[in-house]
Amino acid sequence: MNLTSIPAFQDNYIWTLNDDRGQCLIVDPGEAAPVLATLAKNQWQPVAILLTHHHHDHVGGVKELVEKYPDIVVWGPAETQDKGATHIVSEGDKVAILGLEFSVFCTPGHTLGHISYFSYPYLFCGDTMFSGGCGRLFEGTAEQMFNSFQKLNQLPGDTLVCCAHEYTLSNMKFAHTLFPDDVNIARYYQEIKELRANNGVSLPVKLDLERQINVFLRTQDVDLLKVIGMETAPQQEWHVFATLREKKDRF
Ligand code: ZN
Ligand code: FE
Repeated sequence: MNLTSIPAFQDNYIWTLNDDRGQCLIVDPGEAAPVLATLAKNQWQPVAILLTHHHHDHVGGVKELVEKYPDIVVWGPAETQDKGATHIVSEGDKVAILGLEFSVFCTPGHTLGHISYFSYPYLFCGDTMFSGGCGRLFEGTAEQMFNSFQKLNQLPGDTLVCCAHEYTLSNMKFAHTLFPDDVNIARYYQEIKELRANNGVSLPVKLDLERQINVFLRTQDVDLLKVIGMETAPQQEWHVFATLREKKDRF
């Protein structure tokens, strides 16, 4: 399988996976034009679209793609039914495409119906986990997003996190501000600064690396509790996550 990220809008990525016969799947096509250009250039035949949630920058291109390729099957959560999803999936469902089997996880927080798709090593997690950060809480609660993170964090370390936005630089800046002495974070922030200065793509990223540099996976870390001033109050772990998310909102 061959994984490709197609840049869209300001900072979105539309992911494709294709096999050696040129059949492909498309994840979260927020707009059709860059996808159609990539399909034409590579002579790929799309067989399926996977949708993670109902936001326009993830579903806006579905209609045009289906018009052009009427045989495409569109998988998505119930919240995407009126955005073109033809096959509705939820927690525990399996989706067979291109000889792969994707497991569906409900990962609410960014939206209430947000789902993620996993077929080792590929994780398509939309706006749930970003490299170095997490999605904004538009519909769900911090507790839901925390639980979604716990779910994704069960996956193998060499899982490739294919999220939908290039937010890594600002996330690493935030992480570095919280943990100026953390060597891994400092090193990765520097690496991403250079990469982005040259318009490089910071994704996909291995889950192993996220475990080192994503502060939202550090809610048990005593140092983090100190940094956000929660070391004395006995807290649920998701309270730490909530405080961290609020801090990032104001960053
Ligand atoms: Zn979104
Ligand atoms: Fe988005």
